[in-house]
Amino acid sequence: MSRLLEGKSALVTGGGSGIGRATCLAMAREGARVTVADLPGPGAQETVDLILAAGGTAHAVAADVTDPAQVEAMVASAVAAYGRLDCAHNNAGIAAMHVGAGGQRMCDITQAAWDRMMAVNLTGVWLCMKHEIAAMERTGGGSIVNTSSIAGLIGLPGSNAYVAAKHGVIGLTKAAAIDYAPARIRINAVCPGYVETSMIREAMTRRGDSILSTVPMHRLGVPEEIAEAVVWMSSDRSGFMTGAAMPVDGGYTAT
Ligand code: NAP
Repeated sequence: MSRLLEGKSALVTGGGSGIGRATCLAMAREGARVTVADLPGPGAQETVDLILAAGGTAHAVAADVTDPAQVEAMVASAVAAYGRLDCAHNNAGIAAMHVGAGGQRMCDITQAAWDRMMAVNLTGVWLCMKHEIAAMERTGGGSIVNTSSIAGLIGLPGSNAYVAAKHGVIGLTKAAAIDYAPARIRINAVCPGYVETSMIREAMTRRGDSILSTVPMHRLGVPEEIAEAVVWMSSDRSGFMTGAAMPVDGGYTAT
């Protein structure tokens, strides 16, 4: 059976850990040449090493998705390495606790916390798409998957800035999908439920039982389960899908 992303050039942000790393590995397994982007640190190169050890092709790029010059250079690096850009997974993100706003209601968070959340989780996606789309237009099309969340589909308590940014990711995804359908660029969002990564470790320690009681499947997802959806959404097998926001959440948003 042919591999889903054979020969494609793929870029993943937040590729040094969690869902992003799982997507990099799954994309490489399906034949993609992968540009693994993340903040400076060992994570991206560790992901590359795992891909190379499995016989795949990948390289690492350090890029902060809030920095326009770094994002431009990140996309240029993918194009320079593999000649084009076919697929992108805009996945880098932070949680409310990373901006000191975990569990706080709207009126209690600081403007700095709000601004930082928007800069990473919403403007970062916009910036990445801006440069990725330009690259994809030059070679006749492509497929982008943005990581939103169940928090992009419904409200969650004590997460207002995160919820607003993730709803924004879905709005951006839909609007861009319409704008670039004529350019043969498909743009979709994946909406993970609670997934076993460092992002939710602290919340699971504090209130794991209450989180699991809200998930019909009564378990966390694993990053590989999100990655499989992203690979399919990135591939030609989902050729008629654009502007969609697909939950992968153990039934959370079905209740
Ligand atoms: P994770 O392991 O913490 O991954 C997030 C990645 O984004 C990390 O590699 C992080 O780098 C990177 N990152 C953070 N700020 C960045 C920036 N400014 N520029 C570039 N990279 C940056 O957590 P994850 O769960 O896999 O999260 C991936 C995505 O899934 C996020 O968008 C998150 O909101 C979303 N999500 C997660 C869950 C869940 O339950 N885990 C549920 C729904 C949606 P460092 O490690 O160096 O900080």
